[in-house]
Amino acid sequence: MAGRIECDLAIVGGGLAGGLIALALRKKRPDLDLRLIEAGPRLGGDHVWSFFTRDIAKEDRWLAAPLVSYGWRGYDVAFPAHARTIDTSYYAIESERFDRVVRTSLAPGQLIAEKALGVGTTAAVLASGDRIEAKGIIDARGPGDMSMFEMGWQKFVGRELLLADPHEVTRPTIMDATVEQVDGYRFVYTLPFTATRMFVEDTYYSDTPTIDRNAMVDRIHDYALAKGWVTEAVGREETGALPVVMGGDFDSFWRAGGARLPKAGLRAGLFHPTTGYSLPDAVRLAIRIAGQSDLSTPALLELTHGMANRAWTDRAFYRMLSSMLFRAADPDERYRVLERFYRLGPGLIGRFYAGRTSVIDKARILSGKPPVPVGRAVAAIRGRRG
Ligand SMILES: Cc1cc2nc3c(=O)[nH]c(=O)nc-3n(C[C@H](O)[C@H](O)[C@H](O)COP(=O)(O)OP(=O)(O)OC[C@H]3O[C@@H](n4cnc5c(N)ncnc54)[C@H](O)[C@@H]3O)c2cc1C
Repeated sequence: MAGRIECDLAIVGGGLAGGLIALALRKKRPDLDLRLIEAGPRLGGDHVWSFFTRDIAKEDRWLAAPLVSYGWRGYDVAFPAHARTIDTSYYAIESERFDRVVRTSLAPGQLIAEKALGVGTTAAVLASGDRIEAKGIIDARGPGDMSMFEMGWQKFVGRELLLADPHEVTRPTIMDATVEQVDGYRFVYTLPFTATRMFVEDTYYSDTPTIDRNAMVDRIHDYALAKGWVTEAVGREETGALPVVMGGDFDSFWRAGGARLPKAGLRAGLFHPTTGYSLPDAVRLAIRIAGQSDLSTPALLELTHGMANRAWTDRAFYRMLSSMLFRAADPDERYRVLERFYRLGPGLIGRFYAGRTSVIDKARILSGKPPVPVGRAVAAIRGRRG
């Protein structure tokens, strides 16, 4: 027979955003009677999430620190006309560790391993027929309907290669764009996990989200061979197509996900419009929620909608850059936009990824000779295809 559970707060979706909220609340509000509802076998799914040290404010780092699997003191980028090492720390979180840390932080019974079939403002109905009634609900079920956005895609296949011999790489390469340019802006991303474990991701800023896995796996293989890395076995594999937003209607997006439901993560539209990354916002939101005394649905709606709405307004500049990348540059010339960007100062680059670009940064990014035709750049800024 179906049951009924009453609690203070139900978080629906134990991915990055929902898991971080649960973890923050367990640390700051251990007496709160919460439930984390996750349909999949593992909290956080099957990802590697990376971030730069500046993506997370110093006072917020306590939340991400226990989740970090690897850290490096700098990273490289490489383009046809320019290569560089940037002296900024970079970190990676593996979902296995994310699952372990969040799961063990929860009290017995707080994790509900089930799919929610329906989510309302005071209750969630589970596949088993059980009903969770909560004073506060947060919808963190991952990407919702994004059809009201104008988008391009950052898509990728990543593989962890277990190598026969130790490599000599000491830093991640965030973008190696010296590779053949196919299907938009293509680059390879590498993370040296250990001396014989190398994560290699073949990535595209593409007009379509379609992933040709076999072709991308072959390109990863060729890239590793060219580097002299002999692969003995393949560990994890991840694929993704992240939204790169150029414009759209934020209010319709929010309404489509349930106008009165508090939301978190991609479901709230809390991601960087140019990179599709959501980790910095997810940490910020989790900490805001853990610091708020009223966790009822109306109060959480005000908080999450307010933060997402402000982010949408403040990030018009990034949507314009996305637009320039996709509309002003021919697909095989897109790399020039990033090549030029990576000649700028490390502080500016850091603030860009963190979504904290200053007015002066914006002027610097846009000044000088654009790497794309001026007429098309202007058309892109006005929102038309050049
Ligand atoms: C492979 C990959 C790599 C990425 N790398 C980075 C990165 O390095 N840095 C970065 O900032 N961003 C990265 N992103 C982008 C983004 O940050 C992630 O997609 C992030 O996981 C989004 O967090 P989220 O909580 O919104 O959604 P998700 O993490 O997808 O979580 C949603 C969760 O809700 C669960 N769920 C859905 N429906 C239900 C239901 N009905 N009932 C119960 N549970 C449900 C899902 O099983 C899932 O666990 C990456 C994305 C992908 C796909």
